[in-house]
Amino acid sequence: MTETERHAYDVIVIGAGGAGLRAAIAARERGLRTAIVCKSLFGKAHTVMAEGGCAAAMGNVAEKDSWQVHFRDTMRGGKFLNNWRMAELHAQEAPDRVWELESWGALFDRTPDGRISQRNFGGHTYPRLAHVGDRTGLEILRTLQQRVVALQQADHAETGDYEARLRVFAECTVTELLTDDDGAVAGAFGYWRESGRFLVFEAPAVVLATGGIGKSFQVTSNSWEYTGDGHGLALRAGASLVDMEFVQFHPTGMVWPPSVKGILVTESVRGDGGVLKNSAGERFMFDYVPDVFRDLYAESAQEADRWYDDQENNRRTPDLLPRDEVARAINTEVKEGRGSPHGGVYLDVASRLPADQIRRRLPSMYHQFKELAGVDITAEAMEVGPTCHYVMGGIDVDPDTARSSVPGLFAAGECAGGMHGSNRLGGNSLSDLLVFGRRAGLGAADYVEGLDRRPTIRDDDVDAGAATAVAPFDPPADGTTGENPYTLHADLQRIMNDLVGIIRTEAEMIAALGRLDELRGRLRHVVVEGHRNYNPGWHLALDLRNMLMVSEAVAASALARTESRGGHTRDDYPTLDPDWRHRVLTTRCAPASTDDDGADPVPRVVVEPGERTPMRPDLLDLFELTELEKYYTPAELAGHSRGGT
Ligand code: FAD
Repeated sequence: MTETERHAYDVIVIGAGGAGLRAAIAARERGLRTAIVCKSLFGKAHTVMAEGGCAAAMGNVAEKDSWQVHFRDTMRGGKFLNNWRMAELHAQEAPDRVWELESWGALFDRTPDGRISQRNFGGHTYPRLAHVGDRTGLEILRTLQQRVVALQQADHAETGDYEARLRVFAECTVTELLTDDDGAVAGAFGYWRESGRFLVFEAPAVVLATGGIGKSFQVTSNSWEYTGDGHGLALRAGASLVDMEFVQFHPTGMVWPPSVKGILVTESVRGDGGVLKNSAGERFMFDYVPDVFRDLYAESAQEADRWYDDQENNRRTPDLLPRDEVARAINTEVKEGRGSPHGGVYLDVASRLPADQIRRRLPSMYHQFKELAGVDITAEAMEVGPTCHYVMGGIDVDPDTARSSVPGLFAAGECAGGMHGSNRLGGNSLSDLLVFGRRAGLGAADYVEGLDRRPTIRDDDVDAGAATAVAPFDPPADGTTGENPYTLHADLQRIMNDLVGIIRTEAEMIAALGRLDELRGRLRHVVVEGHRNYNPGWHLALDLRNMLMVSEAVAASALARTESRGGHTRDDYPTLDPDWRHRVLTTRCAPASTDDDGADPVPRVVVEPGERTPMRPDLLDLFELTELEKYYTPAELAGHSRGGT
């Protein structure tokens, strides 16, 4: 039997970003013994990178704002594909989660009369994003960490042990979930990144909060952690993913110099007055307002500029259309020869705001461009272009409890699917992870408290986890030198960028699946040098399994969906098809085939169609029939109170 360190808890939370910490706090507050496991340092999770803000209809800046308006905006942004119950809970509960953070010590920017300030963002009808300059994620994570420490101090006062009920295992990667004979969660298997030593966590409930998948793409705003681990772990444990074809390309990433390509330029630049221009100096977004949004967006630069000061009587600037629309517009401008010298377009805030205001409202952007590109954004325009930013697809969960189809397995934050439909609105992720992080922690607590016996880990599964983990150290049986994990990663990123990127076609997707299958074969022969003490090549070799599964899920789902919607644009099916609105694509692990020789470290995935649950009538009634008719089939609208046809 493999020698491992063992720890027993009630709940294991994998991930220490906003979702993971909020889940852990909720579980610990219910008195459960909770472990937080994260592969980065504690406090360094991807959430710290969030810049612009956290969307919540508090009505501090625009009194007319309400959860109903936020719900409507979220559904419109997702092109009515969202899990509507998630969107409802999110819109209703986000304000409480922000106020709760304030009571835990978060210092948000203020309105002149001292309330939490809220800023404009794409797709949001009113200024709605609570923010801390352009470093909102950092403040949210700092506050949640402070809350974790406060709970540990309370435990110390009561038991003499800070870690009696809440312990953080930092720089520790989970590679497998462990289930019992009935298929219920029994724990997790992982390793310390520094020493390579193995650990087993015994626990009846696991909350996955591992973030996104961006590292499968060449140009991305995402951090090194975003290798789709939670998606892969859930699939291998028997859970399903939904909506994996929907990947958000943020319209404004840096395009120059090459070493920083993809790094995010926050949407707050546009929310605070910055505008997009092409090489001819034209504000081109007025040419790209789609019919479904025409009533809501300004037709001229004059009207758009008036909107910043008087939102009651003017329509918003199309620079703030949902991200998918803006990313496609930039793509077209560049393709048609009106781009900037380095293949982007211009984002101009310099000519629109005084220099001191830019430095105060956008301090990180000012430093980012000054230090990385030698550009002073108070004096010249930035060059920007689309970058892979967020995955709407993720683990299929019950909205109220965050539980997956595997007993004892819960998920929240970016690794969970459904909430954002085909396209996420900016600011809706920070609120999502607070709302559903808390719900996942509570869901896990309810589950554990309802159990009459604890599940048992099988020793064979621990041995199998260890064997898979050390396999990359074995020389290939065929005597070749084997595959280098860095080369495989670069090839994977190129395939995803070139063939499954912002604009897709059937031929490209088929080609991508073929090339991913070749990679699958090469991954069998991945070899790393050295030993298990801090060995980044080995870590990457293990992460590649998840990246490959996730990439196959994205490509296969994108091939199946023969329409364009949100973060999925098909050149060969360029329009939105109402018959696809009510359909969901689900990814799960394929059953092992009889010709499987057991040498493949990555199970295959299959994508299956299903039906979405129809929206509750009272929520459907929040929309005008004329708007719904753009998205729904006549049969679906028959029950609308204002009369469907
Ligand atoms: P994360 O914060 O990424 O945390 C994931 C955690 O899981 C990490 O601790 C990681 O170490 C751990 N982990 C992963 N795999 C494993 C494993 N195998 N074993 C152990 N631990 C593991 N959204 C907004 O709403 N507003 C914004 O202004 C905004 N700005 C953004 C700016 C940038 C540059 C980027 C890239 C994103 C931005 N987003 C924004 C999106 C938002 O930041 C993320 O979607 C969100 O922070 C995800 O949080 P999370 O808790 O789900 O995951």
